[in-house]
Amino acid sequence: MKIPVAKPFLSKEEAQYAYDTILTNWVTQGPRVQEFEEKFATYTGAKYAVALSNCTTALHLAMIVTGIGKDDEVICPSMSYISTANSIAYVGAKPVFAEVDPATYNIDVHDAEKRITPKTKAILIVHQIGLPADIDAFKELCSKYNLRLIEDAACAAGSAYKGKKIGSHSDLVCFSFHPRKVITTGDGGMITTGNEDFYNRLRLLRQHGMSVNDRVRHISEKVIIEDHLELGYNYRLTDIQAAVGIRQLERLDDLISERRKIADEYSKAFGDIPFIRLPQEPEGYFTNQQSYSIYLKPECPVKRNDLMQQLLDVGISTRRGVMTSHRETAYRSHCMGLSLPRSEDASDNSIVIPLYVPMSNEEVNTVIYHFRRVLGV
Ligand SMILES: *Cc1c(COP(=O)(O)O)cnc(C)c1O
Repeated sequence: MKIPVAKPFLSKEEAQYAYDTILTNWVTQGPRVQEFEEKFATYTGAKYAVALSNCTTALHLAMIVTGIGKDDEVICPSMSYISTANSIAYVGAKPVFAEVDPATYNIDVHDAEKRITPKTKAILIVHQIGLPADIDAFKELCSKYNLRLIEDAACAAGSAYKGKKIGSHSDLVCFSFHPRKVITTGDGGMITTGNEDFYNRLRLLRQHGMSVNDRVRHISEKVIIEDHLELGYNYRLTDIQAAVGIRQLERLDDLISERRKIADEYSKAFGDIPFIRLPQEPEGYFTNQQSYSIYLKPECPVKRNDLMQQLLDVGISTRRGVMTSHRETAYRSHCMGLSLPRSEDASDNSIVIPLYVPMSNEEVNTVIYHFRRVLGV
């Protein structure tokens, strides 16, 4: 039996939605994108949502609309997928890497505060593999120092913080619909905002800075000559992708409850192992359980990579914990002498084990059995 680490949940219904959209002949950003945006805004409780080609382009536009540019600094966790840092570098600004809290892997507010300088313009928090960061603490910090807050919620569709869905807490919340996330459109992204100026500017920037969109021109009875108002991009989502996203969004809450059930089974099955630390969900936080990551304490008898290999030998695929950006080649030379021991330790000694829907009892039990067998417990 082969058990992958992750797998998207896609069915004939998603295919039918895409099929129907193709036959309308409107295939790029149009009515399905608008519908997906409206439904996503309603789902998250945000005023507006803007669909984009992926979360990386969403983050890039978030930097632009907040006016971040050359020589500015933006604080973010190093322990994240590398596009978090890249989005800052795209606008000529410097990512300043902060430590994470080892219990949650989320950016540590006290460490972030220590890294604020006169050049700091924003803090980009990450909701690590679906578990929200402490948004209120960062809101407070940002208002104290007059900084912008941006949320990298790539992994956090459907997660909640203090009873409200991610997407409704601040004005630039960026989501991903990559196949590794809980819902997917192939590739895809979304920004939610309550700020009308951001909303309008994001819509302009994603479509070459064009003053009217294709659809408005298409249905107009009067000739419209468009203008391009500023340097824009082609960061559009297609209507085919949006159609898939609409069906995925309808499933999101069910997918999350299935994922949480599997995570609970893992937590019950591994709760007695003294030399590992299981994922935490503090009071007031609700994770969509995008990934299940286990930390191996120093006294763990098997090294992380050996554990991964021995599981792969029996057909169980795993991944390393979340990477650190400051040790990747693209950033290493800019980060000489930077040491983030908590992030490095968390990244080097954690393992992501299989979690997807549907995952059979037999698959879950196979993972549990071999995980314990390799560790000798
Ligand atoms: C997946 C991910 C991204 C990138 O999302 P894309 O849609 O692939 O661009 C950014 N940040 C985090 C934390 C991610 O997990």
